[in-house]
Amino acid sequence: MSDLTFTLYDLKVEVIAGDKPFVCSHQLGDAFEVRGENIIFLQPAFSLYSLAALLPLLPAKQRPLNAADWMATDHIIACPDPHCGARFRISRIGKQTVTRSSTTIVPMPDHNDWSE
Ligand SMILES: [Zn+2]
Repeated sequence: MSDLTFTLYDLKVEVIAGDKPFVCSHQLGDAFEVRGENIIFLQPAFSLYSLAALLPLLPAKQRPLNAADWMATDHIIACPDPHCGARFRISRIGKQTVTRSSTTIVPMPDHNDWSE
C-alpha cells in the first residue's frame, strides 16, 4: 500500500512595524521559519511572550485553508503586550508534500471519524 501524503506550507514569521514604538526587545526584520514540525530561528533571540502568542496559529497556517476562513487572510498578528507596536507577519514561503508515515505511527482509520 502506498503511503498517504498531505500538504504543509513552510512559514516565515517576521517582525514588522506597527503604529506605536516597540516596548519589547523586538528588532524590525527579526524572524523565524517553520518547516514541518521545526522552528528555525534566524536571529539568536526572539521574545518568548510573542512566540507564545504566535505558536497556536502556526499549525493552522501551515495547512491548506478554506478561502473564506479568516485564518487564510489575516496574516498580521499583534504583540501580546498592548503597549507595544510590534506586529508579526506570517508568510507562506514554500510547500511540502509530507508522508503520513513520517509524522505518525497511528494507523489510518477505516472511516473518517472527523467527517460531518
Ligand atoms: Zn512587543
